[in-house]
Amino acid sequence: MRHAFLPFSRPSITEGDIEAVAQVLRSGWITTGPKASEFEQAFSHYTGACGSVAVASATAGMHVMLAALGIGPGDEVITPSMTWVSTVNLITLAGATPVFADIDRDTLMVSARTIEPCLSSRTRLIVPVHFAGSCVDMDPIRNLARDKGVALVEDAAHAAGTQYNRCTIGRTGTAIFSFHPIKNLTTGEGGMVCSDDPDLLDRIKRLKFHGLGVDAFDRTMQGRSPQAQVLEPGYKYNLTDMAAVLGLGQLARLDAMNQRRRVLAECYQQHLMDIDEVMPLAEVPHCTRHAWHLFIVRIDTDRTGMSRDEFMARLKALNIGTGLHFRAVHQQKYFAETLGLSPGSLPNTEWNSDRICSLPLCPDMTEEDVLDVVEAVKAVLSVKC
Ligand SMILES: *Cc1c(COP(=O)(O)O)cnc(C)c1O
Repeated sequence: MRHAFLPFSRPSITEGDIEAVAQVLRSGWITTGPKASEFEQAFSHYTGACGSVAVASATAGMHVMLAALGIGPGDEVITPSMTWVSTVNLITLAGATPVFADIDRDTLMVSARTIEPCLSSRTRLIVPVHFAGSCVDMDPIRNLARDKGVALVEDAAHAAGTQYNRCTIGRTGTAIFSFHPIKNLTTGEGGMVCSDDPDLLDRIKRLKFHGLGVDAFDRTMQGRSPQAQVLEPGYKYNLTDMAAVLGLGQLARLDAMNQRRRVLAECYQQHLMDIDEVMPLAEVPHCTRHAWHLFIVRIDTDRTGMSRDEFMARLKALNIGTGLHFRAVHQQKYFAETLGLSPGSLPNTEWNSDRICSLPLCPDMTEEDVLDVVEAVKAVLSVKC
């Protein structure tokens, strides 16, 4: 058994990252300023997006997005239930109704086929989730959204560096990225909204900073622009320069870090192949570059006679950390009580929600770490209850 606990994820921070943050701290300008705008430009350059707006988190990005699109009571937003709770929380807080599209059982992603039956005359927005570093098949969904006149915003929290049909996520349409510490690129906390719609970006820019027409830092003013006026009531979701400078360093290493994730993921795939009780996700041809944000398996609970929670607890006892991405949103207490979807209404989501488990994966891991995990998985599975 491993002596040291292997966490499920750990941010990859270099001495260079630490020095860059120290320089910002010494500079006298630590909130949104030159580093934040440099990060926005570098992110647009990397993805090929027309423009990018840095925000305090992906959740903040989604909040201002819903506000910018004017989503409110009476509106419906289609998204998967197999996602992080933030999107569904915000839809609910905006007074709108979440409508859940089921997912593919082996990729965990929605498709035009699962979204179409959810459309109604009230549908205002579709939020597909690119899962685990792979991507949704966007073209059929884009056609559907265009035909129905419905807005489309990609949840790209797992997809920094992912390519869909050789096109980097963020380049086409509107996408929201997350830089939370477990994500492939981290700024501690942070997010980015990319869009090819300049009017939408202007609105997001304004709403993320008090509804003022400018940032706190205005290059031409050499600092503050005290004359700025509220154009509409907004929020306070700007990204600090301390965070943005981390993002600049991380972005420069993103391809190398994702490549390292790929090597480790392939090591898992090779060594887990013969273990019938654990089922990795399927890969899809339209994902021409996988960012390997997560290495997810599903536990065959019928065959093992062991629940997923039991499997996770036993791995932990062997010093292996795991993650759960995600427990279905519609089965969580509040949403189960308020939306009242009957069991079986989203069969593939529910099947995965009971079986899903993320194994440790981050760029600083070694192949020996992966082999330790595989050994522990085998040990856990041989102990049937
Ligand atoms: C992490 C995550 C978010 C939220 O990101 P934050 O930056 O933590 O707000 C949204 N959607 C998905 C699918 C995520 O995994």
